[in-house]
Amino acid sequence: MSRTSVGEIGAEPGERQRGWLRVPGVEPPWEIPVVVNRGREPGPTLAVTAGMHAAEYVPIEAVTRLSRWADPETLRGTLLTVLLVNSPGFYERSIYVNPRDQRNLNRSFPGDPEGLPSQRVANLVLTQLIEGSDAYVDAHCGDLNEALAPFALWARAEDPGLAERSHRLALCYGVERILAEDPAQIPDHSVGAAALRGVPAIVAEVGQQGICDEASVARHLRGLQNVMAELGMIDPVGPPAPAPRELAEMAWMRTDVSATYHPSVAVGEEVLRGQLVGELRDLFGEPVRQLEAVASGTVVFCVTTPAVKAGDPLLGIGVLPG
Ligand SMILES: [Zn+2]
Repeated sequence: MSRTSVGEIGAEPGERQRGWLRVPGVEPPWEIPVVVNRGREPGPTLAVTAGMHAAEYVPIEAVTRLSRWADPETLRGTLLTVLLVNSPGFYERSIYVNPRDQRNLNRSFPGDPEGLPSQRVANLVLTQLIEGSDAYVDAHCGDLNEALAPFALWARAEDPGLAERSHRLALCYGVERILAEDPAQIPDHSVGAAALRGVPAIVAEVGQQGICDEASVARHLRGLQNVMAELGMIDPVGPPAPAPRELAEMAWMRTDVSATYHPSVAVGEEVLRGQLVGELRDLFGEPVRQLEAVASGTVVFCVTTPAVKAGDPLLGIGVLPG
């Protein structure tokens, strides 16, 4: 039987239960808000997380709304929603990492129950939520400092049946672009770890820059509802989403120095390989790097704050096949 609880938070058929998932061995306490909607009728279990990155407000709001919208009286199966994984980072408005150990939770899988706080959290999410579920969506957006055009990443597992189930979750979400990733290449990401344990999984990215705008929240919510309909848990809430474009790859550009960043392109713009896309300058305003596009494609995300630290991403170019 599929999972019907997160840790000790479970529900009877036809019930909704809320609770706090406490991460063992972490002080001060790290507590994660969880809602379980268990349908009166049996069906699959969908696991959803938001707030792996604490300043990604659109998915946090959308998943919270989903947990209140789902109706256990009519639902088929179980909806497990984790509303804010990186709760210590939330009121700090932390970008990328959590304040307890400065690690990126979505690079901390499969985690370790005896490890650093982020490794303990990742392991708890993996073993108490993802494992035993029938599908998994990790809801994200551009971080507080990132502009982003909606996209989804799906885990192309070695097993074609498992890969196809992930692909269908991405296809139905309602984003313009989707990208396949080999889970073996991203075992430290939530979706990589999920697919390596046999759970179809996607990352869905809608929203940006710390702006909790209604249009993006509604769009993320609709994507999650589309996934529930795809799994047969609810009837479709509207017409199917238009088919997305399938990207061949996402070309990342990072900075190797701490500097100020002055992009000359915006999200959604087409760029050609070798084209100037921005400049890095020192604090006196002297140019230190000219940035040329590493690939031809569409700018899918772009950092929008001047301050960038060595190793940080600057932008991502979505590359079409061929
Ligand atoms: Zn994120």
